[in-house]
Amino acid sequence: MTKKIECPQCGKPAKIGADNPYRPFCSRRCKLIDLGDWLDESNRIPDPAGSAGGMMPDESDDSGTPH
Ligand SMILES: [Zn+2]
Repeated sequence: MTKKIECPQCGKPAKIGADNPYRPFCSRRCKLIDLGDWLDESNRIPDPAGSAGGMMPDESDDSGTPH
């Protein structure tokens, strides 16, 4: 009696049994893809915000002309 499920990664039928060390995935490939997926998500490096060229020249016009 072999129970079959759908591989969460590719949707192909995957075997649930002692002979499938990659369950619930159908293959090692799918398991690695899934693992890499969440590893990537948890180690997401925030994009360096491109804040270059945000220097506004402070034009402090000295209009304090004494009368
Ligand atoms: Zn698969």
